[in-house]
Amino acid sequence: MDLSGLIDEWIEKLESFIELQKSLRNPEQNRTRDIYGYFQEAGLLPDYAFGSSGPIIIDGESNLITRFSLNEVSPPSTLDFNKTRYSCYAINNSAKYIKTIANKFKECPNCKSTISIFESNLLCPLCNNTLSLENKGIIEPRIIKARRSSFSLTQKRVNWNYYIVDMPKNISYLAGVSSPFICEIAMLFGGVLVDGDSDKHYLCKECGAIYSKESKRSDEGTHVHQPSDQIIGSKFKTRAVIIDLNELETSDWITFKNALISSTVIESGCEDGEIGAIYSPNSNKLILFDDIEGGVGFVDVISNRTSEVFKRAKDLCEQNCCITGCVRCIGSFWRQNDLQYLKKKEIIPLLNSIIKENGN
Ligand SMILES: [Zn+2]
Ligand SMILES: [Zn+2]
Ligand SMILES: [Zn+2]
Repeated sequence: MDLSGLIDEWIEKLESFIELQKSLRNPEQNRTRDIYGYFQEAGLLPDYAFGSSGPIIIDGESNLITRFSLNEVSPPSTLDFNKTRYSCYAINNSAKYIKTIANKFKECPNCKSTISIFESNLLCPLCNNTLSLENKGIIEPRIIKARRSSFSLTQKRVNWNYYIVDMPKNISYLAGVSSPFICEIAMLFGGVLVDGDSDKHYLCKECGAIYSKESKRSDEGTHVHQPSDQIIGSKFKTRAVIIDLNELETSDWITFKNALISSTVIESGCEDGEIGAIYSPNSNKLILFDDIEGGVGFVDVISNRTSEVFKRAKDLCEQNCCITGCVRCIGSFWRQNDLQYLKKKEIIPLLNSIIKENGN
């Protein structure tokens, strides 16, 4: 774990959490909380199951539900909580309830895997393409508005795009696998999945609602939604490892990604859902990272025990549980949107060449 700056980060988090609590003060609920609860809610004691530094949900005017991770509750997601289905419909877009991640940023239009926020990078560190300026700000909501809905409500999920932020230079590779390095990973709002289909949505600069082309008028009928020049997103510091396929090729990145995540979860002993990945066909690279703020070092196993990780991936692909890939082998509940695309038999030759390249 990276300790430098950790205390500063904690103080900053605790301060912003106390400020947030004060502005939402509800004595009834605050009284029942012990100091452990406060620390946990401020994101100082990580609750891995619920990424506790996420936003707070408000049901109606003042009814505070609890904290969830942004992945779960970013509008227009549906949230099942306490036997009730909620529709998360808007962010509170007043300045004090928003954390600005970037005023503008540059994105690689080729590999779509890196963004630059702080540095004056001109080229993509992964694929050397020229970065293009996105005149958009990235904002992280701290308060999300939700309302109770009937159970017939269609389930909606936000599709997140993941990027390495200002990727560190001088990453060293050994037989196509990088040393573990510390970096920032950003996730940006990338549309909405409605019953498995992707649908474009926009953030309204006036009311903070997330709307689609079919819902341009606000619920109260007071205005027509206007697209904001900001998008919802978040970023966190973690540890990552890059697998560079070099001259090897795969047409099947989704399967390769799922197999590597599953084998890394087993070999590192972490929980399902704690390893994330970005695949970048245009740079022929797969980036795996600890999907936990702070980064614990689970992905280190990929560079420390490379052969074991790839052999495990191959074993999973050869398992008899299914034909193409399921939650018992290379799939996962957390990656359920990928399940229909898995073709595990097809990446076995690729895994064999990598195992060979690594000397076993
Ligand atoms: Zn690139
Ligand atoms: Zn609006
Ligand atoms: Zn299976």
